[in-house]
Amino acid sequence: MSTKHNEKLQESILIVDDLPDNIRLLSSLLSSHGYEVNSATDGEMALSIIKAKCPDLILLDIMLPMMDGYQVCRVLKSQEATQHIPIIFLSGLDSEFDKLEAFKVGGIDYITKPFFVEEVVFRVKAQLATMKQQQKFRQILGEEVAERQIAERELNRSRALLTGVLNSSLDGVAAFEAIRDRQGQITDFRWLIANPVAAMTVGGTTESLKGKRLFVEESPGHLFDGLFNLFVQVVETCTVLEQEYYYKSSSLTAWFQIVAVKLGDGFAMTFRDISDRKQIEITLKKANLRLTYQANIDSLTQIANRRRFDEYFTQEWSRCARDQEYLSLILCDVDYFKAYNDTYGHQAGDNCLYEVAQAIERAVKRPADIAFRYGGEEFAVILPHTKGQGAITVAEEIQEQIQDLQILHHSSQVDQIISLSLGVSSIIPDTSSSPHTLISAADNALYDAKLKGRNCIIYKPVKSGHC
Ligand code: GH3
Ligand code: MG
Ligand code: MG
Repeated sequence: MSTKHNEKLQESILIVDDLPDNIRLLSSLLSSHGYEVNSATDGEMALSIIKAKCPDLILLDIMLPMMDGYQVCRVLKSQEATQHIPIIFLSGLDSEFDKLEAFKVGGIDYITKPFFVEEVVFRVKAQLATMKQQQKFRQILGEEVAERQIAERELNRSRALLTGVLNSSLDGVAAFEAIRDRQGQITDFRWLIANPVAAMTVGGTTESLKGKRLFVEESPGHLFDGLFNLFVQVVETCTVLEQEYYYKSSSLTAWFQIVAVKLGDGFAMTFRDISDRKQIEITLKKANLRLTYQANIDSLTQIANRRRFDEYFTQEWSRCARDQEYLSLILCDVDYFKAYNDTYGHQAGDNCLYEVAQAIERAVKRPADIAFRYGGEEFAVILPHTKGQGAITVAEEIQEQIQDLQILHHSSQVDQIISLSLGVSSIIPDTSSSPHTLISAADNALYDAKLKGRNCIIYKPVKSGHC
C-alpha cells in the first residue's frame, strides 16, 4: 500500500536525446534524485511513450533525427492532453540553437550541454515545482469557476422564479426607493421594479418605469397622487399602510386596495383592483338602505310607520329619562272617516290619508320631531325635549295644515271638510315607569276630544298613579 502511494507521488521525467551517453548520464542522475525516468532516442518514439503515459516533465533535445525537438514540442503543445507538460530543451553549445524559437514553440527553459549536474537537477526541480504550483492554481481556479457557475445558475434560477411569481401575480407589485434632499427629507420615490400588472395599471412597461420618479409631473405616479405623505410615513416609521383608494381620471376609474411595507430605504407595494367588489358593496349598501327605509316607512302615506314609532318612542323615552327632559306625544284621529269612505269610496279614502299624513309632516319641523302613521286613520307625533305647551302649539299647527287642505267631507257631522281630533300629553320620563303611561294619557286625551265633539285639541297630563 505504501509502495503504491510512493509510486503515485514519484514524479516522472522523459529524456529525449539521440545520444545514448547523454541519456545514461541524465537517467542515473535523475533516478538518484528519486525521479522515475523514461527515455526516447527520437521524436516519434517520444510521442508514442507520451501517448501511453504522460510524464510530469520532458527534457527534449533539439537536434533529433527526422523530427527535431521544436517539432515534437509543437505537436505536444497542440494537444489538450499534453499541452501542460513542461518542456526543457537540451542543446549543444556548439549547435545552432534558437532560444527565441524554443520559447515560441512552448518550451519553458533550456539547458546547454555539457551539463552541470547541479544545474540540471535544480532546473528540473524548479520547473516541476512551478508546474505543481500551476496545477494547484488551475485546480483552485477550476473549483472557483465551478462554484461561480453554480452560484450563477442559482441566481438565474431565483431570478427566473421571482420574475415568474411577479409575472403571474394578478395584483400589481412594485418596489420604490426614497429620493432624499440634502437635509435627508424624502422628496419623491423612484421605481425599482414593477410587475406587468403594476406597469399596465400606471400605463407604462416594466422596463420603462425603472428609475422613474413616482410623483413628479409627467410620471405615471399620478395614479398615487395624495398618497405621498402616507408612503413617507411607511418609510420613516416602519408602519404598514393598508388602504382602499378611489382613483378617477379621464382614462381610468377604479377602486384599489393598497398595501405598502418598508423595504430598505423605500417601500414595496401591492395593489389590487377591487372595483368589482366595491361595486357589489355599494349595491348592497344601497339595497340595505332601501330595505331599512322600506321597513320603516308606511307605503300608503309615505311617512314613518308603526314599527318605527315603537322603536323611536322607546329610544326617546330612555334618552329623555336620562336627560330628565320632557317627552310629548300627540295622537290624531280623522273625524268620521268611516263615513268619508262610505261617501267617496275607499280609493278616495286612501288619497285622503296620504294628504293628511303629508300635512301632519309639514307641521312637524324640528329634526327630532317625527310624525307616524299609528294605524288606520290614526297618526302620532313624537316630540322629544318638548313641554306640553310646545306640543299643543304643534297640534294647532297640524290642525291648521289639515284645514288648509280643504278636503271636502259632506258626511262629517262636525264640519264640511276633513278634520282631526287630537290628544296631547307630556311627561318627564322615569326609567322605572312604562312608556305606555304617556301613550295611554294621549289616548285618553284623544278620547276626550272625540267626546267633546271632535275637530279639537285636548291636553291631558300623565296621571301620577299610572307611573
Ligand atoms: P271617529 O270620528 O269616531 O273617529 O269615526 P271614524 O269613522 O273615523 O272611526 P271608525 O273607527 O269608526 O272608522 C275608521 C275608519 O277608517 C274605518 C276604516 O275603514 C277606515 N280606514 C282605516 N284604515 C284605512 C285605510 O288604509 N284606507 C281607507 N280608505 N280607510 C281606512
Ligand atoms: Mg280611529
Ligand atoms: Mg276616526
